[in-house]
Amino acid sequence: MKKHIETSCVQEGYVPENGESRIAPLVQATTFKYDSAEDVAALFDLEKEGFFYSRLANPTVDVLEQKITALEGGVAAVGTSSGQAAITLTIATLCRAGDNIVAAQNLYGGTMNLFGHTLKRLGVEVRFVPVNATKEELEEQIDDKTKGIYGETIGNPGVEVLDFELFSAVAKKNDLPLIVDSTFATPVLCRPFQWGANIIIHSSTKYLDGHGTSVGGLIVDGGNFDWSSGRFPDFTEPDETYHGLSFYETFKEAAFAVKARTTILRDIGCTMAPMNAWLTTLGMETLALRMEKHSKNALALGKFLESRKEVSWIKYPGLEKDPYHELSKKYLPKGQSGVISFGLKNREQATKFIDSLKLIALVVHVADVRSCVLHPASMTHRQLSDEELKKAGIEPEQIRLSVGIEHVDDLIADLAQALDGVQ
Ligand SMILES: *Cc1c(COP(=O)(O)O)cnc(C)c1O
Repeated sequence: MKKHIETSCVQEGYVPENGESRIAPLVQATTFKYDSAEDVAALFDLEKEGFFYSRLANPTVDVLEQKITALEGGVAAVGTSSGQAAITLTIATLCRAGDNIVAAQNLYGGTMNLFGHTLKRLGVEVRFVPVNATKEELEEQIDDKTKGIYGETIGNPGVEVLDFELFSAVAKKNDLPLIVDSTFATPVLCRPFQWGANIIIHSSTKYLDGHGTSVGGLIVDGGNFDWSSGRFPDFTEPDETYHGLSFYETFKEAAFAVKARTTILRDIGCTMAPMNAWLTTLGMETLALRMEKHSKNALALGKFLESRKEVSWIKYPGLEKDPYHELSKKYLPKGQSGVISFGLKNREQATKFIDSLKLIALVVHVADVRSCVLHPASMTHRQLSDEELKKAGIEPEQIRLSVGIEHVDDLIADLAQALDGVQ
């Protein structure tokens, strides 16, 4: 039965059998018992599906994986210990040393550190292009060692909207998967597989959990990429650690998710904890309600900030004057999520404003029910040089406001009193 997204948020991922608990139980266990060595050998050889050790898979994490798979319309998902782990696991599944990825450069600060420094040390190069790059600019970066194109549905913190059709056309033409970090949009506001993405990444720490309880990440495999073009020998050729099995031949459209789990997750162990999966699944039951309210509140606050003379610039794709408004109408018609970036006159005003807020808290976080602010230049993007800051689209006077689900009038009152104080 085809379900609406609101129904899927509540119902997908777990169906109890007769007499079982109505909500998915928390299986806080490392291991699982079997009757014979033969049973366990079949699991190790990937001949049978089942749980044997929670580094690889756990029933509670599986419920969350099934929920996000259904919401995004993919074929399989892998839970990880954090969003950063999800990104690292994805790149490590696709690339060997010497390979490269082409990425839009308006990325989350943690991703910028990973891409610009840590991956480079491991021999994987990330080639950055502007988020509004032309097809030609994207293609110029691609060579026979390129293994994917990467972007964020809504950039953190610049809230630029990815031009899916342009990025996916270039990816398709060059036999490359389009990898999209859709943390800020969530499947409620945008479903990237419908626009040509092949792999979706979430920091579930943010809206999916929504309540600031659990760090976690998810990778969703769209099942819509052909790994047999010759660009991905690691997917088609025999894997020595599984008696010469080919992931592409054996697992077909779920080859990426199975390979990510059974090779890199197995070896690196950046596994999602069952407790975190349980809390995140619970949070996701209200995701559709929350994203609607986050988006409504953010648009109202965006309009309020736009009207204030202390605010020198503002970025929110829901605002008509925003350069990404047209793209947001196409890709985010139901709402543009809860994050606004804006600038006061200078760095001093920005920090004074943040210090004067009463209801809206200063926290290194984004995308939870409680409104919060952050100063990227001195926090999330602190490790970046001035030049890198500029490339990532961060200004010293920039404030990132994550709009929660409180009453909008209370939020406006708090912003107003803090703005009054910076004059
Ligand atoms: C927070 C965030 C990440 C990293 O996620 P963690 O769960 O903190 O590791 C990645 N991408 C985006 C867009 C984020 O906002």
